[in-house]
Amino acid sequence: MVADIQTRDDTQAITETTADNSLQTNNTKFCKHCGKKIAAAAIVCPACGCQVEEMKGQNSAPNITITNTNTNTNTNTVSGGTYERNKYVALVLCFFFGWLGAHKFYEGKTFLGVLYIFTVGLFVIGWAADFISLLFKPNPYYVRV
Ligand SMILES: [Zn+2]
Repeated sequence: MVADIQTRDDTQAITETTADNSLQTNNTKFCKHCGKKIAAAAIVCPACGCQVEEMKGQNSAPNITITNTNTNTNTNTVSGGTYERNKYVALVLCFFFGWLGAHKFYEGKTFLGVLYIFTVGLFVIGWAADFISLLFKPNPYYVRV
């Protein structure tokens, strides 16, 4: 009788140990570089130091930035700080009267426009740079004043 109970206890103990092992297996994985058993949540293998898992959240970071930009634009539209401008009107103005800062006045940047008049389009450099940057802008484009 005593021996029987002993055996049953042993069996139970073995079963428990097996259960513990299977639980551990759920929380662990094998490193694909060195084959060692490591924690399932590990990104870098503690045994060999190799990266076993892709860093999560790195790809979603730019998306967050885009959302922030949208929020800013919305806020500015409400406050009236952003103006929609036609690209081709600005290009024609810039081409013919850029040295007078015509495109700057069109964008509502009066101070820069006056500056362009007195400096001949920031010594032609600002004029040329504006014309090139206007070429690459979408139509319509948005000006923040
Ligand atoms: Zn490893």
